[in-house]
Amino acid sequence: MNRFSAALLIACATFGANAQEQVLNLYSARHYQTDEALYANFSKQTGIKINRIEAKEDELLERIRNEGAASPADVFITVDAARLAKADELGLFAPVKSKLLEERIPAHLRSTDWFAFSTRARVIIHNKDLVKAEDVQNYEDLAAPKLKGKVCSRSGSHPYNLSLMSALIAHDGEAKAEEWARGVVANFARSPKGGDTDQIKAVAAGECGVAVSNTYYLVRLLRSEKPEDRKTMEKIGIVWPNQKGAGAHINISGGGMLKTAPHKEAAVKFLEYLASDDAQRYFAEGNNEWPAVAGVKLQNAALESLGKFKADALPVATLAKNSGTAQKIYDRAGWK
Ligand code: FE
Repeated sequence: MNRFSAALLIACATFGANAQEQVLNLYSARHYQTDEALYANFSKQTGIKINRIEAKEDELLERIRNEGAASPADVFITVDAARLAKADELGLFAPVKSKLLEERIPAHLRSTDWFAFSTRARVIIHNKDLVKAEDVQNYEDLAAPKLKGKVCSRSGSHPYNLSLMSALIAHDGEAKAEEWARGVVANFARSPKGGDTDQIKAVAAGECGVAVSNTYYLVRLLRSEKPEDRKTMEKIGIVWPNQKGAGAHINISGGGMLKTAPHKEAAVKFLEYLASDDAQRYFAEGNNEWPAVAGVKLQNAALESLGKFKADALPVATLAKNSGTAQKIYDRAGWK
């Protein structure tokens, strides 16, 4: 075979593959063990191959913006309502009309442009020797003068804290929310630093008495076989906040179809697939979260050991909407 015919053969083979193979380009901020099964199952069911680009949430968002109309991305998956809202505000998502998604995903866990596929709660954790559970039953309690020098926190600019503030703005109003932020800042044991796991460890070590954390970080430590992680969790009490009021603040992971998606049909199929019972199990389980779809059962004893609680029913789209105001309040309050 001469060089020309070899090249032709390769060209034909490539063309043949492209013509037959349906693909979906997924930009994902997820990177969990269960994801392999999650995606393989979709390809098996639909024959659509998934090309995955994985990176940090904000990097992916930046990348989609930079790629503009030429972006190969069909679906963007990320965590936190504020981040999804940012993508939405930038006009990156296309509205998806799907009866199936409307039936499966509760109304407060979706907008017209994006859908939540799992939920996590932001809970109060306390060192059982230093702070009594009864003193920290509500987020609002974290501003009480009796907790002076006892509160640890991650940055106020982090999306998790922005979304929590957004919920407080919605429930208590801007003025009260700012008063709260100032009270919490006055109670700091140290300047904000680290992630949620760092706060959990600092609370267990007694460096502070109380902090807030997303539930999946706690479940991750509960499932850990490392002796030091077990010791950490033995020191800590977990409080479902605001159970007599609005309920514990809920955040989400989710995604949507991009406006410039080259494979729109495959994108909608994929979003619908994520709402199926099987996919919900993989999706939530991958990060020790709860499925967004009601009635899907997980096999996760550690997650289940957290028990039942009242979740804030505030639409996640509202969290997204208040996120700019939330940042301004943290800035004014000096919550770095
Ligand atoms: Fe996280």
